[in-house]
Parts: sequence; C-alpha cells; structure tokens
Amino acid sequence: MQSLPYSELTGIKGLKVERDVGLDAFTTFRIGGRTRLFLTPLSIQALEDALRVLDQAEVPFRILGNGSNLLVSDKGIRAVISLSGLSSIISFNGNLTVHAGMTIPRLLRWCLENGLEGLEYLAGIPGSLGGALFMNAGACGCAIGDYVEEILLTGPDGSFWFRPSRETFGYRMSNLPRGMIISALRIRIDACPGEADIDGHGLVPCSRKRLLQKIRQVMKKRLDTQPLNKPSAGCVFKNPEGRSAWSLIADCGLQGFRNGDAQVSEKHANFIVNCGRADFVQVRDLITIIKEKVQEQTGILLKEELVIWEDEIIH
Ligand SMILES: Cc1cc2nc3c(=O)[nH]c(=O)nc-3n(C[C@H](O)[C@H](O)[C@H](O)COP(=O)(O)OP(=O)(O)OC[C@H]3O[C@@H](n4cnc5c(N)ncnc54)[C@H](O)[C@@H]3O)c2cc1C
Repeated sequence: MQSLPYSELTGIKGLKVERDVGLDAFTTFRIGGRTRLFLTPLSIQALEDALRVLDQAEVPFRILGNGSNLLVSDKGIRAVISLSGLSSIISFNGNLTVHAGMTIPRLLRWCLENGLEGLEYLAGIPGSLGGALFMNAGACGCAIGDYVEEILLTGPDGSFWFRPSRETFGYRMSNLPRGMIISALRIRIDACPGEADIDGHGLVPCSRKRLLQKIRQVMKKRLDTQPLNKPSAGCVFKNPEGRSAWSLIADCGLQGFRNGDAQVSEKHANFIVNCGRADFVQVRDLITIIKEKVQEQTGILLKEELVIWEDEIIH
C-alpha cells in the first residue's frame, strides 16, 4: 500500500486535508466509496503546493468538481482534490473571471443579480464551472466552451493562462493539456442592454425580470422532461450523430428497466436514476446491458457521457 504524504500536505497553508471521506455525499448519484485522502485547496497557491507534494510522492489523484457527471466505485479511491474551496468571482470588467469550483447555479444567481445575460442556457446544470468546461457541458444547442476566452490551468509546476482554439472543445469533451487542472476561467458575457433606462431604475431591475423569464423557460423544459426528483448523473450516453440516445434506448423497450435499485428513468430514457440504494456495480452493469441491447437492435454503439471512476482499491 502506497504511503501518503500527510505531514507535508498538512503543512500547506490554505489546504484542508481530510482522511477517509465517503464520496457518495459528493456525487449527485449518491454513489461512491471512500477516499483515503480528500484535499480541498482554498487558494490557487495551495492547489499548486498540494500538486507539487503529490507529484513528488508519486500519488495518483482524481479531480472532483460538483460530482454531477460521475459514477464512482464503491471500493474506494486513493486521493481526491475537490475544487469546491475555489469558488469566488475574481473580477468582472467585460469578461467575467471566476474560480473553477464555483457552481453554475451560483454563477447564474450572481448574473441575475447583476443583470448579466448570456449563460441562461446553462440553467439546471448542477456542475461546477471547471467540470462543465472539462465536459464542455451545454444545452439548447449551446456549450460552455463557446463562451470561454481563457482558462487558468494549474499543475505541479505552477499555473498559466491558456487561450482555447477551435480544436480545444468538441461535443461533450475537451482537449486540454493532459494532467492539468482547470482552476479559473474567463467567460465572455454581456450586460443586458437598454430597456432598463426607460423607467430610470438602472439596468438591473428590468434585466432581472427578462433573465428570470429565460431561466424559468429553460427550467420548465427540464422539469417537464427530466427525472429531477431522483439522484442521477444526468445523461448517461452521448447522442450519436443524427440520433438521440434516449430515443434509441426507449425504442429498445428499456425505459423503466431495473437492475437492483438502478433504473432506466421512465421519464427520460437517457437517465439512470438511483431508486434508493443503487451501487456502482448495479449502475455499471445496467450501462452494459443498455449498450448491448441498443447495439444488437440498431447496430449503434452508444458511448458514455458520464465519467466512471473504476476500482482503485486500497484499503
Ligand atoms: C440533473 C442533471 C442534469 C444535467 N444536465 C446536463 C445538461 O443539460 N448538459 C450537460 O452537458 N450536462 C448535464 N449534466 C451533467 C453534469 O452536470 C455536467 O457534465 C457538469 O458540467 C459536470 O460538472 P461537475 O463539476 O459536476 O464535474 P464532476 O462530475 O465533478 O467531474 C466530471 C469530470 O470533470 C473532471 N473535472 C471536474 N472539475 C475539473 C477541473 N476543475 N479541472 C479538470 N477536470 C475537472 C473530473 O475529474 C471528471 O473527469 C447534468 C447532470 C445532472 C445530475
């Protein structure tokens, strides 16, 4: 069993170090075993220092955003770095610079209060900005990668601003330099123009009304079509070219199909929901069953959108 550099890590200023933490509480699926080491940096400097120590001790680790696109093994993970302690707005001057651990719902609330529009299409996506960018999350035909100007990437040798190109993002994926952590990003965003001046109350009150309306529209569509009352990790599979994964799964008669407490949602066939005590193996096996059945009946091989942290075993 690999020894972990606890004393070096606890000596880092601004780094919260915890041992033996259950990851089920940190995933929207409510599934996952324990991690021996759970690190929460409260500054980018602390993140850099922690990465240096882990690198020198050759400890592999995983990055956790808001855990909303993850299926985590029940057997345990060696080390996890959570970005949840890096969650502030750094600056706003035409571009918005934000820490990667800030969640999308919090950022949207801030945009609403400040009359900034452009990110409403992200409403209802429960991820952090770092996780959203890593996955190039999106909806309604938009994806976050299209709105990002620069990305602060952090590794054991420090941090640097990276300007993404056309090749950096694809459908629900990114091609960022390997092994680097997204620690902050600069997003293009607009102030709501105009109409507020009419009643002389400044930009915010009118913009807020319009923004709220847009956000409510997006949320209503989600509530109508997604099983938001049960734990899940959102869509399990990417849509194959020209088809939607949910309709392929539904056409195979799998809607409502259950493996233990893991179930293909009756409301949206591309969601697997946790009906109570679903575990890693039940969900993983259900994914395999869906893929086999869809391939057998349509010839199409579905590819996972959700990220799977397989067994690392350790304890
Ligand atoms: C109810 C529901 C609805 C959803 N709807 C949508 C939707 O409409 N569109 C959509 O695209 N997704 C959707 N999702 C999926 C998910 O919310 C997004 O993919 C989200 O952006 C993931 O962010 P996260 O912070 O939760 O990432 P996590 O789940 O924590 O991590 C996902 C991956 O990103 C990596 N990662 C996380 N943070 C960083 C970082 N800072 N630097 C480098 N790597 C990082 C992780 O290591 C992991 O590989 C939905 C999920 C749920 C539960």
